[in-house]
Amino acid sequence: MSGLVLDHLVKRYGAFTAVHDAALRIPHGQFVCLLGPSGCGKTTLLRMIAGLDAPSGGRILIDDADITETPAHQRDFGMVFQSLALFPHLTVGENIAYPLRIRGKSKEDQRAAAERLLSLVRLPGVADRPVSKLSGGQRQRIAIARALALSPRLFLLDEPLSALDAKLREAMQIELKQLQQQLGITTIVVTHDQREAMTMADLVVVMSEGRILQAAPPVEVYRRPANAFVADFIGMTNLLPGTAAGAGRIAVGGGTLDVSDANIPADLVLSIRPEDVKIHESGEGANRLPGTVTFIRDLGASVEVRAEVAGQEIVAVTAPKHRPAVAAGATVSVEFPAEACVVLAK
Ligand code: ATP
Repeated sequence: MSGLVLDHLVKRYGAFTAVHDAALRIPHGQFVCLLGPSGCGKTTLLRMIAGLDAPSGGRILIDDADITETPAHQRDFGMVFQSLALFPHLTVGENIAYPLRIRGKSKEDQRAAAERLLSLVRLPGVADRPVSKLSGGQRQRIAIARALALSPRLFLLDEPLSALDAKLREAMQIELKQLQQQLGITTIVVTHDQREAMTMADLVVVMSEGRILQAAPPVEVYRRPANAFVADFIGMTNLLPGTAAGAGRIAVGGGTLDVSDANIPADLVLSIRPEDVKIHESGEGANRLPGTVTFIRDLGASVEVRAEVAGQEIVAVTAPKHRPAVAAGATVSVEFPAEACVVLAK
């Protein structure tokens, strides 16, 4: 197949396995985020793709060619590390053109490439400035421009935005995504920030303890997390432990609920998004459990209602016009619509 294939990659350090059997197909032009908590093996996987670490097992293929043994500098990949690794004694232009210089390109070619790349990362006219005089966000763009100087066929970035403050970071996420769309270059970014992954990725690869738990588009990871770990890590959901209670039914929170999932494990976790939970002021009905309101806050565009259901806090988010006319302490009827109930293996 065309694109990048990770064929059952393994990385061991002595008796410790940092990456177990990673299998993944990445078509050309995809923006991929390797997402997971610290130590889950994201960087190790990226470094194997880059050719900086040799796999202990498995193969890496690009357009069906086996590159597992190809040295890093012969892979035609661009890479940006968290540290950026810019040369402080060189100007911006010299930094960007460095890969061209070591390949013996002329001064004019270097200059033209630096100008072209600087406009690409929206920093025209700074080629002659010392790199030490730039802000964090600007340095970020210079590192990106330098990694793109040789028109790589794969663009790899390890936590590229983690040193930036929240606001700049969000702006750079959008810029990086736009740049990738413009160039159409297959891009793999390591991040531990689920919002960052959801913003940028076409394909989110969720990892834990050296294993790939799910590789899917962001909406699918959000809507259909593969298991309770993924749901919890992606966040923004209510998780309730429960058990199977016959065909299409589960027992949770002291009652039973109908679910539309066909596969129901004996021990399960129910995941339901805050925007799918409905709070009724009173009454009984299908798929409802009694609850007690603990907190309400008006967020302007939405209203958040927290309620305790069988000792567990459930968060519901509604449009202001559907705000229930209740206050903290009120007894309410909490609806878990069957089609919004996602049943996960523990
Ligand atoms: P972080 O977000 O903290 O960088 P990560 O998901 O990128 O985490 P890795 O850096 O890939 O995680 O590390 C995965 C595991 O492999 C960790 O337990 C780490 O301690 C271990 N590890 C990584 N490199 C080595 C090494 N050279 N020798 C021994 N163990 C290593």
